[in-house]
Amino acid sequence: MAIVGAGSIGLAIAWRIARFGAEVVVYDPAPGSGASRVAAGMLAAVTEAQFGEEALLPFMAESADAWPGFARELEQASGHHVGFRDAPTLLVGLEDADRAEIDRQAALYRSTDRNVQPLGGRASRKIEPLLSHRTRGGVLVPDDRAVDPRAVHAALLAAAEKAGARIRTEHVDDLGALDADKIVLATGCGSARFGLPIRPVRGTVLRLRAGDGQPVPAATVRGYVQGHPVYIVTRDSGEIVIGATSDERGFDRTIGTAGAVHDLLRWSIELIPEIAEYHLEEVTVGFRPTAPDNLPLIGPVDDRTIAATGHYRHGIALIPATAACVADLATGQGDGFPKAFDPLRFKESE
Ligand SMILES: Cc1cc2nc3c(=O)[nH]c(=O)nc-3n(C[C@H](O)[C@H](O)[C@H](O)COP(=O)(O)OP(=O)(O)OC[C@H]3O[C@@H](n4cnc5c(N)ncnc54)[C@H](O)[C@@H]3O)c2cc1C
Repeated sequence: MAIVGAGSIGLAIAWRIARFGAEVVVYDPAPGSGASRVAAGMLAAVTEAQFGEEALLPFMAESADAWPGFARELEQASGHHVGFRDAPTLLVGLEDADRAEIDRQAALYRSTDRNVQPLGGRASRKIEPLLSHRTRGGVLVPDDRAVDPRAVHAALLAAAEKAGARIRTEHVDDLGALDADKIVLATGCGSARFGLPIRPVRGTVLRLRAGDGQPVPAATVRGYVQGHPVYIVTRDSGEIVIGATSDERGFDRTIGTAGAVHDLLRWSIELIPEIAEYHLEEVTVGFRPTAPDNLPLIGPVDDRTIAATGHYRHGIALIPATAACVADLATGQGDGFPKAFDPLRFKESE
């Protein structure tokens, strides 16, 4: 079995297949250099829901429910912590119009049948005292948790290798040259080379750190600030991640990053003024692998090749569900995959 791409998706599949006892070789010239090292790590089955992407909701819910057990198992298998944080997500609006936007989306959130609790401004600040006094309230989502994607990637690499997967730091140009019965394409934004309709959607993320004794948000805080979305994710390590911008400039990592840093700091500090006191450690620009309809490409491409790509904003959240589905397909233990994610769906409509 060959897996092309050692991001979090490719490695999670490799780990799972290697545990079935199959021989697995993973190809990647730079494992962990893709979107998996940029992501904030929100496992947000509710607060990532978007109108028009409803087909994603059951898979997001399945994966979110699998995450606590998956994290435990991965930590045991690898000996690494993965930074799973069982803290809720608080989505709030700074002004009345921001709160109205959350109320509009709450109809979609409630359709997920997950725990979504409306909150006023005062109740929000009681849960997260660092919120600005201007906060107008929003919703509390107890089961939208978070992990540390860099820690997850390191753990997956260790677990996959311990299970017997071999990692070859090689770029793959020609799938025909690979000596394998089955090939899994987990190439993220590199997938277009293999004929899959994936484009990069750029995002900038900031990493900050609070000083000793400085208060940090306990919840994952997401907000709308004068119409602009922003999120703040706290890690147990003391790292604070602020994200994320979203634009399309091909693979350019430089144009407009000054404005991105300015915007993310301005919006997050309006929401949580204490952030101005933290140390800014890192600015990272990454690319979300995205299909024309924003849904993943998961399933057979031909008799030999299976796609596991196009995870867009959700590739960390969707690790457990994708790995289970693709490992079953690759080993012949199952032939099911969500039809909305069929990698051939765009070809059929041509
Ligand atoms: C700013 C930002 C914030 C995000 N926040 C979140 C979040 O909070 N929650 C969430 O769930 N998701 C989030 N995401 C999305 C998530 O990061 C991605 O969906 C996920 O990392 C995709 O994982 P992957 O393994 O498919 O791709 P990648 O991590 O990009 O890995 C692909 C790998 O394939 C390799 N590769 C490519 N082409 C070839 C080739 N020809 N031969 C060999 N190897 C090849 C690359 O070197 C790379 O290592 C975010 C993304 C960004 C950019």
